[in-house]
Amino acid sequence: MQVLKFGGSSVSNAENINNVISIVQQSLKKNKNIVIVLSAMGGTTDALLSAAIIATHGDISYKEKLQIIEQSHLTTVKELIPVQHQSSVLSMVKKCCNKIEDICNGVFLLKELSQRTKDSIISYGELLSSQIFSAKLTSLDILNTWKDARELIITDSEFGAANVDFEKTNKNIQSFIFSLDTAVCIIPGFIACDKNGNTTTLGRGGSDYTAAIIAAALSVSVVEIWTDVSGMMTADPRLVSNAKVIHNISYQEAMELSHFGAKVIYPPTIQPVMNKRIPVAIKNTFAPDDAGTLIENVSSKNGGSIRGISSINKLALLSLEGSGMVGIPGFSKRLFEALSNEKINVILITQSSSEHSICVGIEEANADKAKEVVDKAFAHEIEIKKVEALIIEKGLAIVALVGDNMKNHSGISGKMFGTLGRNGVNVRAIAQGSSERNISAVIAMADIKKAINVLHEEFFETTYKQVNLFIGGTGNVGSKLLAQLQQQQQHLQDLLRLQVRVTGIANSKKMLFNDDGIDLLKWKQLLQEGDEMNMQGFINIIQKRNLRNSVFVDVTANDDVAGSYAHFLEKSISVVACNKVAASSSYEYYKRLKDLAREFNALFLFETNVGAGLPVIGTLNDLLRSGDKVNRIEAVLSGTLNFVFNNYIGEKSFAEVVRQAQAEGYTEPDPRLDLSGKDVMRKIMILARESGEKIEMEDISNNSFMPEECMKGDVENFYKEMGNHEDHFKKLVEEAKQAGKKLKFVAQYQNGKASVGLQHIDPQHDFYHLYGKDNAVLFYTNRYVEQPLVIKGAGAGAEVTASGVFADIIRAAAPTN
Ligand code: ADP
Ligand code: ASP
Ligand code: MG
Repeated sequence: MQVLKFGGSSVSNAENINNVISIVQQSLKKNKNIVIVLSAMGGTTDALLSAAIIATHGDISYKEKLQIIEQSHLTTVKELIPVQHQSSVLSMVKKCCNKIEDICNGVFLLKELSQRTKDSIISYGELLSSQIFSAKLTSLDILNTWKDARELIITDSEFGAANVDFEKTNKNIQSFIFSLDTAVCIIPGFIACDKNGNTTTLGRGGSDYTAAIIAAALSVSVVEIWTDVSGMMTADPRLVSNAKVIHNISYQEAMELSHFGAKVIYPPTIQPVMNKRIPVAIKNTFAPDDAGTLIENVSSKNGGSIRGISSINKLALLSLEGSGMVGIPGFSKRLFEALSNEKINVILITQSSSEHSICVGIEEANADKAKEVVDKAFAHEIEIKKVEALIIEKGLAIVALVGDNMKNHSGISGKMFGTLGRNGVNVRAIAQGSSERNISAVIAMADIKKAINVLHEEFFETTYKQVNLFIGGTGNVGSKLLAQLQQQQQHLQDLLRLQVRVTGIANSKKMLFNDDGIDLLKWKQLLQEGDEMNMQGFINIIQKRNLRNSVFVDVTANDDVAGSYAHFLEKSISVVACNKVAASSSYEYYKRLKDLAREFNALFLFETNVGAGLPVIGTLNDLLRSGDKVNRIEAVLSGTLNFVFNNYIGEKSFAEVVRQAQAEGYTEPDPRLDLSGKDVMRKIMILARESGEKIEMEDISNNSFMPEECMKGDVENFYKEMGNHEDHFKKLVEEAKQAGKKLKFVAQYQNGKASVGLQHIDPQHDFYHLYGKDNAVLFYTNRYVEQPLVIKGAGAGAEVTASGVFADIIRAAAPTN
């Protein structure tokens, strides 16, 4: 004997029912007798409920809703059953639908809908589907008996979620089944009957429970739950695309996962089969050959300490607080009594060890009622100010880690809360069962998808970590970066297990978002078709999307964009900036961003602010982190100026060489920033700040070599004036040449002071042999006293800068890699 249960999606239309038929035929080859429990056709229960609710509001449109339900059942019959067998089934459907309409008419007239009436109405979902199925089997000459579950399963009168009287129920089931004369028996799930003959239901999702009740009464060898997924999974597959099937799981784990929201099985289902040690197999109607999940007594020793992650939405936290509660017994008893008298189910409980407060999680829908009854129960204490009126917080959710083996592993909660913290998920309350099979955290509902996904990435290592990038700027560096990301996507996935998606791109005109990742081969065209850019809108969308492992990448040179970083860091979104404006603005702003990053567990990285792709800031940070101290910095930090002086060799005018540097993408978007030395001032200031110095632009002296006239007016005037001052530039170079030296624009920092300016460099100096657009930085530290630590290499250019930004992105995305 075997019990098979098919869920709503498995019987949602004729095509799916035919699938079920073939599974039943297979089962009949292996089993002499089978009991088939069926849910209502997918969506029917909800549709019936909503029609009833519309009717209570005195809205006649419930009739249209009922029409749709009737039509879909009639269509299914016509598609499923050969014409010659149809008439009796069609008339059964008509009859049932008339009865539903009669009850709804009553509801409409009375404008009243009791739980008992609701049960009567929704019971028709299962009554219809199971009788249609039975007729289909008959049309195939598979002899079967249809049995109304209300004649077998007896409950109390808790309509909506009735409690089973197992003694009577078991007897009924046994005597009926053992006297059966057909191999197949069809039973509608979900519905039952109280002692007075009223229809009751077993709770939403309760067809699973019907199957378990029957299986336990008959002591069958296995009960099969056929659904639309290939088993119980490590997380809800609708929330986590990488969720994996759990092949073996213990009763306790399955119960815990389902209690905490894994809808694939209705929680009470486990109890009757667990008592009889009957295994439950969860199988996929749409992929019957998949192994599925076996729920049995022992948990598999394979796999990690966490078996699955689940969540419950729409939770409210109730906090009862007050100094009058400390050390006095009975407060929690009274609180729970008040809730239980109103049949309000408590999902989670925490109490602080000071006994100053008790916090319970309940369904959000019950929150207002709970406040009313609890405040009433404690009216006296509230009046004399021993406790405060009940505090209610809504819009919350629970995320729970479940696993039998958790108790043998330390550090799981540390890892859990660390992971949530890094992603800016604020934890409102925590509960851990003493069985250590479950750790639950209460968080904002808006964070649930992100939380479940980051926890899944953290605990189920076979999955990739998904990184979501929002990129501001599509100029020289931005477009190179996008090309590099496109080329490296596979490599990052294979090597670092990072699935890097660009989920947003913006430039000064347009912005574009796609949570599934923008196609990087077509980003230009897609962006052009995007929405008008507006900075505030861009920030709002990123915050609202609330995607996990998000990084904002600024490859602009724009002040407004630099002004936006705090909005990201505050949401634990890391910021990678190629833009120097933020790190070189006021010390106060620089410091604020660094502090925010620390506070919200995010990273603020700007390696490319100095020396483009060269590892200058990273090296400096490593020195300091390991206890070294910077005493002096000497550096050539302008790729542009180095390029200009290296190429100003008498062939082209100074202005022409500068134009060439701009054309090759070495200069800032405004080349005057480079030529004036201001860009170098910003860079040495950033290095000084990173070395621990509180320094501002005014503290840096600039010995500029540019004639004042060049810096007045616009960029065209700048080029024109440089042409007029050709002799000045020639003279600068000649003087150096005659002294056997080279001209370099050098930045220095020592004892809290910094300066920049042109210098004559001897042939022995580290800077003498700097070619092209090279940069060089010399760090003199406590450890590098006489011979400095030297970092040297190409210090400008879109390609190397983009690769530096890329490296920062990887650092931000995978701090542990
Ligand atoms: P049925 O109609 O067959 O009873 P349900 O809709 O009640 O099916 O349950 C199956 C659904 O449960 C799946 O489609 C899936 O979206 C959801 N689900 C939630 N959590 C999990 C989980 N951990 N594993 C598998 N499915 C889950
Ligand atoms: N049809 C019922 C529901 O939708 C029972 C079930 O499907 O298990 O809740
Ligand atoms: Mg279900």
